[in-house]
Amino acid sequence: MEPSFLIRLPKGGDLVETITKVFRTKSIRKAAFNLIGAIDDCVLGFYNEDRKYVNRDFKGRFEIVSCIGNVSEKDGEVFVHAHIIISDSEYKCHGGHLMSGAQIFAAELFGVPVPGDIPVRQNDEPTGLALWTAFND
Ligand code: ZN
Repeated sequence: MEPSFLIRLPKGGDLVETITKVFRTKSIRKAAFNLIGAIDDCVLGFYNEDRKYVNRDFKGRFEIVSCIGNVSEKDGEVFVHAHIIISDSEYKCHGGHLMSGAQIFAAELFGVPVPGDIPVRQNDEPTGLALWTAFND
């Protein structure tokens, strides 16, 4: 298994798609990661009471205060789930589920592959989300 890695993501790409591409290229299907840097524009999602993602667009340059997430498998493909906190030029923060639409200005990814069985996301009726098998003691 590949050890943990630090890598810079290229300027201009979509943030969540580029993170996914890194893990797909490395054939890593189980991992945790964090990332810091800066982006232009961002789309944040909030999963509401009606079981729908409501998205909000943020335009302009933002610092990535924190972006954390995990890597597993969904529909046979590498799937990245990431949440992010961004700060604007007034140092105000906004956060949520990271959607496509954030353009990388500079981004440093710390990836940590995790050994063992690969978690697989499947539709979960109670939440309406694609989730891992729940812990069951
Ligand atoms: Zn989420």
